[in-house]
Amino acid sequence: MKTKTIVLVAHDNMKSDLGNWVAIHHKALAPHHLLCTGTTGKVVSNTLSERGLSEELQNITFLKSGPLGGDQQIGAKIAEGEVDVIIFFCDPMTAQPHDVDVKALMRIASVYNIPLALNIATADYVITSELFNSNYIPIKKDYNEYVNRITNR
Ligand code: PGA
Repeated sequence: MKTKTIVLVAHDNMKSDLGNWVAIHHKALAPHHLLCTGTTGKVVSNTLSERGLSEELQNITFLKSGPLGGDQQIGAKIAEGEVDVIIFFCDPMTAQPHDVDVKALMRIASVYNIPLALNIATADYVITSELFNSNYIPIKKDYNEYVNRITNR
């Protein structure tokens, strides 16, 4: 199976939930590359070291903090075809200063048909799916008509 790049992001009130989720699923995540926004990555790393799991999950990349451009860095990686799965635990009860960046990330994930889990239940479904342990390639919509809309006139 190809190593997947799995994005991990959580809003502040959801970071401990994500750290806990990663610890619970560390075996399934271990063969893969984890790509985190800055502060989420720190919380995930701290949780793993507190639970003695740091050795098992070493392939972690830390991007900028979300509000400082981390979400946009992830969006760029999606557009480049470098992301396989996104786990993004959103806080539904708190306004975010970088709401537009979060929306942009969700939109570009839809454009490229990338699996996007916004809560623990969906993340549980994703990680226990047999597709997670396969070389599943999401179907990409053909945007050629859109890309050529001016020259076709
Ligand atoms: P952070 O970013 O992990 O740097 O806090 C998360 C987010 O984009 O909300």
